[in-house]
Amino acid sequence: MSDDEQPGLSRRAMLAGGVAGALGLAASRAQAQQAEGQPLLGNPRLPEPAGQRMRWAIVGLGTYAVGQIMPAFGDARLSRMTAFVSGNPDKARTLGKRYGVSRFYGYDDYDDMAKDDEIDCVFIALPVGLHAEYTIRALEAGKHVLCEKPMASTSAECEAMVEAARKADRRLGIGYRVHFEPTNREALRRIGGGELGPLRQIRAEHGFDANPDWPPHKWRLEQPLAGGGSMYDIGIYGLNTSLMMLDGDKPVSVSALYAYPREDPRFSEVEGGLDWRMTMASGLIVSGSSSYCYRPFASRQTYFGAQASITMPLATTYYDNTLILQDGGRRKIGAGTPASQFAGQLDGFGEAVREGRPHRTPGEMGLRDIRLIEAMYRSADEGGVEIAV
Ligand code: NAD
Repeated sequence: MSDDEQPGLSRRAMLAGGVAGALGLAASRAQAQQAEGQPLLGNPRLPEPAGQRMRWAIVGLGTYAVGQIMPAFGDARLSRMTAFVSGNPDKARTLGKRYGVSRFYGYDDYDDMAKDDEIDCVFIALPVGLHAEYTIRALEAGKHVLCEKPMASTSAECEAMVEAARKADRRLGIGYRVHFEPTNREALRRIGGGELGPLRQIRAEHGFDANPDWPPHKWRLEQPLAGGGSMYDIGIYGLNTSLMMLDGDKPVSVSALYAYPREDPRFSEVEGGLDWRMTMASGLIVSGSSSYCYRPFASRQTYFGAQASITMPLATTYYDNTLILQDGGRRKIGAGTPASQFAGQLDGFGEAVREGRPHRTPGEMGLRDIRLIEAMYRSADEGGVEIAV
């Protein structure tokens, strides 16, 4: 996103409201963002000089880190990369040249980061089974940590991570980028503002087709590195995003059934699919599916209200999220530049660290979600019984 582009402002809003109206809207959005204490996306503040930005080490130079997170620093206004941690020094140095990064660590000298004053925050982009260990070691080295989702393999690991952050007096966040994604922020604004009336049901469907021969999918099918199956990796988007829309409402019970084809050799260690259901304190039902068998993929959220509904046929993708409001008519609503969610997440975390404010997606949120998924697995193991949470 260019510096002069207004965050959260669609081209349609610009055309419909005129530039003055659009800037007024942008200003009120910016105020709302500041009141909330987190940037919405691409930060309304001016970029900081490089010397004052939060300095990040990226741990694990895989598909997500290289494809999405590193390029996002180009859109960030408060963050810059200073170090890479990798088991592949050639790859680290090649990427270092591209991004002007000259500090490199391996997994053996990882703890030496404690002595490195050029690193404030660490971004963990490793397979899930390694999240807890590398997060805790980074916290003990005195760094703030933004760890990718799902938080860890078990709720016990998540608890240890939260405790390590408390003990080290460092911030721990989870990489739920959707909380910084403008189309979802727009859905949240409309749902929270009562535009749909009381919510009646939420439906979430998320999945892709797992390829056991592709390294980033291979570890997702191996329990020790993946922690869990499709619900851990992709179903969690439906769970977390639905809960994001339900301010104040809390889950009281869950149930689930395994949906994988049992004869499929890909799913001998982790589940290929889970159909799940969650009852909220208000009585609202949130239900969804997760799958490693959806071809090519599904990323769908639907919010049914008493007066209107929001359908997001693409709800949690990197770039293409879409919001359709059905309130008698049918309106497609644009809400900004989806790609800026990556930069918004980085800047938001750094800003929370620096200003001592809560982060929008803290470790406790990651722990909550893993506890809920564990309860879903317990339910599925027992044939779908209702489990109080
Ligand atoms: P990947 O396999 O492409 O990358 C993993 C990296 O970890 C690789 O660089 C690999 O070399 C390194 N690694 C270190 N030790 C390893 C080991 N013992 N086994 C395997 N790899 C090892 O995976 P990815 O898709 O980039 O996922 C990395 C993390 O990012 C995961 O936690 C995943 O859930 C998360 N992720 C998040 C999003 C999102 O949208 N938030 C999207 C994709 C992935």
